[in-house]
Amino acid sequence: EKNAANYAALTPLSFIERAASVYPDRTAVIYGDVRRSWSETYQRCIRLASALRKRGIGQGDTVAVMLPNIPEMLELHFAVPMTGAVLNTQNTRLDSETVAFMLDHGEAKVMITDREFSDVVHKAVRMASVDPLVIDVDDPQFTGGDLIGSMNYEQLLAEGDLSDHWQPPEDEWQAITLNYTSGTTGNPKGVVYHHRGAHLNAISNIIGQNLPPHAVYLWTLPMFHCNGWCYPWSVTAVAGTHVCLRHLQPEKVFELIQACGVTHFCGAPVVLNMLLNAPDQAKAQVDHPVTVTTGGAAPPAAIIEGMEKIGIQVVHAYGLTESYGPSVFCAHQDEWDALELEQKAAKMARQGVRAPALEQLMVADTETLEPVPRDGQTLGEVFMRGNNIMQGYLKNPSASDAAFAGGWFHTGDLAVWHADGYVEVKDRSKDVIISGGENISTIEVEDTLYRHPAIMEAAVVAKHHEHWGEVPCAFVTLKEGSSATEEEIINFTRDNMAHFKCPKQVVFAPLPKTSTGKVQKFALRAMLKDLA
Ligand code: ADP
Repeated sequence: EKNAANYAALTPLSFIERAASVYPDRTAVIYGDVRRSWSETYQRCIRLASALRKRGIGQGDTVAVMLPNIPEMLELHFAVPMTGAVLNTQNTRLDSETVAFMLDHGEAKVMITDREFSDVVHKAVRMASVDPLVIDVDDPQFTGGDLIGSMNYEQLLAEGDLSDHWQPPEDEWQAITLNYTSGTTGNPKGVVYHHRGAHLNAISNIIGQNLPPHAVYLWTLPMFHCNGWCYPWSVTAVAGTHVCLRHLQPEKVFELIQACGVTHFCGAPVVLNMLLNAPDQAKAQVDHPVTVTTGGAAPPAAIIEGMEKIGIQVVHAYGLTESYGPSVFCAHQDEWDALELEQKAAKMARQGVRAPALEQLMVADTETLEPVPRDGQTLGEVFMRGNNIMQGYLKNPSASDAAFAGGWFHTGDLAVWHADGYVEVKDRSKDVIISGGENISTIEVEDTLYRHPAIMEAAVVAKHHEHWGEVPCAFVTLKEGSSATEEEIINFTRDNMAHFKCPKQVVFAPLPKTSTGKVQKFALRAMLKDLA
């Protein structure tokens, strides 16, 4: 109580002030030929915040952005909240209707975009009822597309004043960002993050991924996705270096790992798979310790194994937009190192235990919230409680109430709980296959398929069956130069898992994915209906 006057609101904005004052000359950002120190980066953020304030942006206003992983995107993660406003990062693969919906729903006052997306954004702004100030980032690395704004980013920045210093929020529960869920059914839901949760989850990542001081972090994960899992703030907190990257190409990733001495990056399993299938001479460039955090979808054990073989250490994380990205980590246990790689990878493919910022994690019955036994068998839903769980969905009380029914956040994911306390996700509740009354985890079937030498990618969905109700159907793509027949693949699974879990049909087709690399199973189910 005595010290109350000294308590300050938790905010990740304090990290950049510290990085700039303690390590002013260390490299904060690398992007092509651009190199900026922490002091320069901080000054650009201060100026930008000042410029936005001069244009009337402040407390509670929404600034929407649609940008790739470029330095401006990183700066906006600091500059926008410095004004008290809320940053709404939009998925760069969305169509104009959805973007217009989000601009209206979030009541955007500013929209910052890039030539690469100007077509979609231009249409969206015309469609929307709100009339945001449109700003272009005019990046020499991308010269296609049109400029659509009333000014460009550098012109805006020049309007700002370095002496116009920002204030931390008075209330740490104040909104910092707005992230829309993908909305595969109905309109997307706006998840509101606050300064407190963002601060805590950023620190939690540092512990979860073992981020050392001055980590060199490569931006392979889109910053628009859950604010890049809070890494803009985590990497800044360790006064690291942000290596920005506009387009994700496997060769480029390996090149940057070597050229910039990258120590850490993040990516969905699909990205790891892309890296594994890069040419050998590209992969041979990993000549120093590198760690990748993977999540967003279940990583097949074979992919974890493959990464470790090329010298990239894997950390497995699990979470949702609603939990600021990673809220569960598969915390490493030393005794796993004594295991065969295959068994070790199986341990690591489990989602794990609560991240430091998460207060409670449990697997329990969806209706009664009674925890399931820790037997590695009984299926339940994953529930969470903690500082890194959203407060609710913007202007959507019924969805918010449903998400927190019974006082816990419902993830909608089905899992088992192991005796060592580690949680293993088996499926999204809407994806699990129920065959003759037995649950089949599509993740488990995919895990087996990924061990087939000819398979590049695999996804399993339920197919209607007269007798069994549902049976597994596999969609696969093959590696270049490899071949396998439907029968061979089915037989391979029969040699490796219980027969009732094996796919009854194999379809060779490219897998439709979201911008964050998740397979769109609803699209595969629709494809299956069409095939029938
Ligand atoms: P979307 O609904 O667009 O996929 P999210 O990014 O919030 O939105 O996705 C969260 C979901 O992704 C989780 O509920 C879970 O189903 C899946 N997921 C995330 N990380 C993992 C993981 N490590 N293992 C298995 N599933 C995961």
